[in-house]
Amino acid sequence: MTTKSPSADRRPHEAAADPARVVVDIRDVHKTYGLVEVLKGVDLQVRAGEVTVVLGPSGSGKSTLLRCINHLEKVKRGTVTIDGELIGYRRVGDRLHELREREVLRQRTHIGFVFQSFNLFPHLTVLDNLTEAPVSALGVPRAQAQERAERLLERVGLRDKAAAYPGQLSGGQQQRIAIARALALEPKVLLFDEPTSALDPELVGEVLDVIKDLARVGTTMIVVTHEIGFAREVADTVVFMDNGRIVEQGTPGDVLDSPRHERTRAFLSKVL
Ligand code: ADP
Ligand code: MG
Repeated sequence: MTTKSPSADRRPHEAAADPARVVVDIRDVHKTYGLVEVLKGVDLQVRAGEVTVVLGPSGSGKSTLLRCINHLEKVKRGTVTIDGELIGYRRVGDRLHELREREVLRQRTHIGFVFQSFNLFPHLTVLDNLTEAPVSALGVPRAQAQERAERLLERVGLRDKAAAYPGQLSGGQQQRIAIARALALEPKVLLFDEPTSALDPELVGEVLDVIKDLARVGTTMIVVTHEIGFAREVADTVVFMDNGRIVEQGTPGDVLDSPRHERTRAFLSKVL
């Protein structure tokens, strides 16, 4: 795969103007827990406005990979670069020095993360859930953060829920709020870790519809999911992971309809 050198000083609104730009650049990432290597050299590039869907059996390393992207887990070897900025480290000569927590937190504001369990603040209203981080982490004026939050609520179809508390919402609604909250920081990329796995089946569609809508407007995303229909419809690239490695990668047509590897075939025969 060819990669173009990303530039660090781009702003989100320029994303659409340069669709070839690599936003997420994962190089030779290894991760161990104790003696067990759970990521064994992962390379992955995601370009501006593209959606990459990651499939793979339980335990293959999908969540660990996402957590390495925003330095929730430290990699043992390899690098993660988001829009030209090395994550978790700074380069000094040919060495990498780990960044201070404050710097890492700043970097994380560029990386939206939506978890399986929605993780909203239960004691805050929906509106306050959406404004908390922009105000406290980025110093956005409250009125401006509220205006943006209202636009995001509109985007996920929950404008009338601004004053509600998470506990008063369905799981699907809470997850849509969690997506809006991730977007409130205007991240360069949105990561989803099985965003619909904790939902009752009848609520899955409304959450996938929100993600599809984000794809349509050119949001750069990595989505770990078992929803094959969604992958087929929305993914630019489908990645199949097994045992800490990317085994196969390509268009949905390539990977889902004519997988080359036996392990991909075996996995798909179980989930399709
Ligand atoms: P997936 O998301 O594909 O199901 P994970 O990334 O959660 O896979 O896990 C990959 C492997 O790493 C599994 O074998 C899991 O048991 C192991 N693992 C994950 N987190 C930890 C941890 N904090 N400590 C030790 N082992 C872990
Ligand atoms: Mg997982």
